[in-house]
Amino acid sequence: MDKRVGVLGGGQLGRMLVEAANLLEIRVNLLDAPNSSAKQVSNHDGHVDGSFKEAQAIKKLAAQSDVLTVEIEHVDTYMLEDVAKTADVQPSWKTIRTIQDKYLQKEHLQRYGVATAQSVALKGPSKAELSAASRTVGLPLMLKSRKEAYDGRGNFTVKSTDDFEPAIQALGGNQDLYAEKWANFKIELAVMVVKTKDQVLSFPTVETIHENSICKLVYAPARGVSEIINKRAQELARKAVACFWGKGVFGVEMFLLPDDTLLINEIAPRPHNSGHYTIEACPVSQYEAHLRAILDLPLDEQDLELREPAIMLNILGGDAPDSHRQFAAEALKHRRTKIHLYGKGQARKGRKMGHITVCAPTMSEAENLIQPMIDYADRGKP
Ligand code: ATP
Ligand code: MG
Ligand code: MG
Repeated sequence: MDKRVGVLGGGQLGRMLVEAANLLEIRVNLLDAPNSSAKQVSNHDGHVDGSFKEAQAIKKLAAQSDVLTVEIEHVDTYMLEDVAKTADVQPSWKTIRTIQDKYLQKEHLQRYGVATAQSVALKGPSKAELSAASRTVGLPLMLKSRKEAYDGRGNFTVKSTDDFEPAIQALGGNQDLYAEKWANFKIELAVMVVKTKDQVLSFPTVETIHENSICKLVYAPARGVSEIINKRAQELARKAVACFWGKGVFGVEMFLLPDDTLLINEIAPRPHNSGHYTIEACPVSQYEAHLRAILDLPLDEQDLELREPAIMLNILGGDAPDSHRQFAAEALKHRRTKIHLYGKGQARKGRKMGHITVCAPTMSEAENLIQPMIDYADRGKP
């Protein structure tokens, strides 16, 4: 474990990656602003201050690391391609470049026979282009930014022709848009997949609940989903990840349609919000699995099994700057509740400030335990 890992980005995913690395005495060099979430839990002199979009900073990180990886896909892949001539970049810059453009990602998946929602690229951000796309995919549709999207920023629900104008107004600043056929899903599922040097492994299928396009809750395993669908979702997720290059964990988001068809929504080439539960609920977490995959350390399907049902609830910023701390103080009063705060300072409304995970011998026990905290989050106060 002498290899040093360089990470582009130092947010909460980087922080939890460092927490896993520390237990294995793996050195993680972070590239982000000083005192970023991840740097706060990692005290050594190998970090780089700067942006993961700066060429010089990336080169400096590469020079002092053995393997480079990302905790965010919105990085400059041309610089990564350049450093990959001399450094080991995992997953490959090709994977990150394809995935970071959600339309290219869908085209790629379809080319490899992986089902996704039908998508049409707009040639420009105009009502005429949106109107033309709507004739192909129908209405309602989801208008999406091809790049830089996260937590639903970059998505606009277009229900009728009346929404064309506001949709273009909302997202038109971005030149690269595409329209996606509406997925009338029963539930949303997600699977964390681990691509190692010679295997594609998966964690169990979980259920994700989004509110205003932001992930709110994750249930592991997915509730009310048959063992067959659980397995099919894992197979589809592994098939989707197998058609990309390089090693690491990938978060695969899916829609389960009324006729039990599965469609891929999107893939993240990194640890993912839907995999936080693995820290408490699985022998090896998604973060440790990522490290093992990129460093060629042993990993087996058994390491990814669910030990106990788990529910994860995101702590989103509220109106008060310390709303997340108030939430944590409330959560401390509840049993079997693991609290993770990310050290991001003052809350901004809707920003991910932390999460909690509740594990219990049965899902219904976990549901009963977490319900008061869901109620608290929904009310914003006790
Ligand atoms: P993330 O933070 O996961 O990266 P994102 O900003 O990339 O999110 P998406 O995953 O594209 O956004 O969409 C967010 C949510 O919006 C989905 O989880 C789903 O609830 C809803 N959604 C997205 N696409 C569609 C669709 N085609 N039909 C219906 N609902 C959709
Ligand atoms: Mg996304
Ligand atoms: Mg998503």
